[in-house]
Amino acid sequence: MAVELLGLTFDELQNWLVEDLHQKPFRAKQLFKWLHFRRVSSFHAMTDLSLKFRNQLKSTAHVTVPEQMKKVESPDGTVKYLLQLTSGPAESVLIPDPPRFTACLSTQYGCRMGCKFCMTGLAGFHGNMTAGEIVAQLYAMSENSESRISNVVLMGMGEPMDNWDAVANALEIISDSRGICIGQRKITVSTVGIPGGIRKLVDMEKQYGLAVSLHSAVQRTREMLVPAAKAINLTELKRDMLEYTGTTGRRVTLEYCLIQGINDSLEEAEALAEYSKEVPCKINLLVYNQVTGLDWKKPSEETIKRFIEYLYPRCSAVTLRRSRGGQVAGACGQLGASVLEKKRDPVLPGSP
Ligand code: SF4
Repeated sequence: MAVELLGLTFDELQNWLVEDLHQKPFRAKQLFKWLHFRRVSSFHAMTDLSLKFRNQLKSTAHVTVPEQMKKVESPDGTVKYLLQLTSGPAESVLIPDPPRFTACLSTQYGCRMGCKFCMTGLAGFHGNMTAGEIVAQLYAMSENSESRISNVVLMGMGEPMDNWDAVANALEIISDSRGICIGQRKITVSTVGIPGGIRKLVDMEKQYGLAVSLHSAVQRTREMLVPAAKAINLTELKRDMLEYTGTTGRRVTLEYCLIQGINDSLEEAEALAEYSKEVPCKINLLVYNQVTGLDWKKPSEETIKRFIEYLYPRCSAVTLRRSRGGQVAGACGQLGASVLEKKRDPVLPGSP
């Protein structure tokens, strides 16, 4: 089977070239530059490589190039991409907030966490993406954007810690200074906190950001919203977060999606303030985005205000993020239509 080059870290690429293709180690530098700095996918165009080497690559390897099936731009500037990758459709979102341009990437086809407010959760799990497929989403968006992508968040379809090996490779590749070189501190991994997941991020000894999809600091409410939380004890999750903050010196972002009548009460705000007080963190409140087929609603402005006013004096950092991309179903919790579509009909929707 042909080797997918885009998903190999620099060291893996070098080992493969030396051990399997019997090339000199310096070839890795050249090839990595073509793939990740110049972002060229055709071996034919890699003109400083000998013809013999290019032919050798052609017969042993391939480079994932996503096919762009749809691109929808929201009035707020957010762009949602539907990309056809090797094993299925992926949804990725570009969020402009100058000078910051953030790419939100997917890591799985669907998700097995089953969050009740999320379309991806509704779609179920259909497979893991390879590291190359995760990286390819970024390159496809980068090619399509006039602005340089400055930040990356792994908050699209999927639970990154549930596909760790591919995610770890993708993190290393996109932060490699020889490639697209997105700084480690500008890359954020989001997780519901599956056991052992945060530990793996800590073990990398890097500066990647961590966002925890908390949504409630009350175990019972959290389990209702995030079924996977049945296996995640809030006390243990806090211990994992403290390990991350202690090792990296960075704060954790606690993501909290406010949903009417579910987690927007003062008791919930109290539990959140109490839970977060020992954790160096910032609380990122989001207002629920309507998802077709789900009955949840966003809280009233008055309820949101009351919730924030309770948190402000008690928590070190609280922000209310008005979600971007709602008009194109590209906001948090709204991705996954393509997977639902795939479930209903194996023929994928065509390009616009
Ligand atoms: S919110 Fe994230 S973890 Fe939960 S189902 Fe959706 S994609 Fe998966």
